[in-house]
Amino acid sequence: PVIRAESSTTEYFPDAKFYKIEAILRPWRVPQVSSALLKMGIRGVTVSDVRGFGSQGGSTERQAGSEFSEDKFLAKVKMEIVVSKGQVEAVINKIIKEARTGEIGDGKIFLVPISDVIRIRTGERGDKGERMSGGRADMFSTS
Ligand code: ATP
Ligand code: GLN
Repeated sequence: PVIRAESSTTEYFPDAKFYKIEAILRPWRVPQVSSALLKMGIRGVTVSDVRGFGSQGGSTERQAGSEFSEDKFLAKVKMEIVVSKGQVEAVINKIIKEARTGEIGDGKIFLVPISDVIRIRTGERGDKGERMSGGRADMFSTS
C-alpha cells in the first residue's frame, strides 16, 4: 500500500508543533472513544474523572440535591491527548464520531498549544519526546 507522511494544512492560533486535545466526554462513551484512538495509532492518553455543568445542567442525570444546595455537577471524563500538529484534525474527528449522540451533554473539545514534550526516562524533547514507537507517526511513515 502507498503510505505517506500525514500532514495537516489547518492553522491554529497560536501556532505550535504540538497540541493538547482536551475532550470532556460522557463517561459511558469513553471505552468506545479510547479503543478507536488506539486503532488509529494513538498511544498516549490521560483520563480523569471530573464533574461539570454545561447547557445540560443537572436536568437529566441529576442526583438528589444535598441538604443545602442542589448539586448540578454531572460526572464526566476528561481525556487529554498530546499529538503533533498534523494529527490534530484526525483525532478530533474520531472523538466526535465516537462520542456524539446528538443529545445535549455530548461534551466539548478544547485545543491547547503545547510548548514542549519531555520524556522523563530519556530526557528527549520536542519531536523525539512526543513520538511513540509503533504510534501513529510510525503508521504513516515512509521508511
Ligand atoms: P516511556 O517510553 O518512558 O514509557 P512514554 O512516552 O511511553 O515514555 P509513559 O511514561 O508511558 O510515556 O507515560 C506516562 C503517562 O503519561 C501515561 O500513562 C499517560 O497518562 C501520559 N501520557 C504519555 N504520553 C501522553 C500523550 N501524548 N498525551 C497524553 N498523555 C500522555
Ligand atoms: N504523535 C505520536 C506519534 O505519532 C503519538 C501521540 C499520542 O499517542 N498521543 O507517535
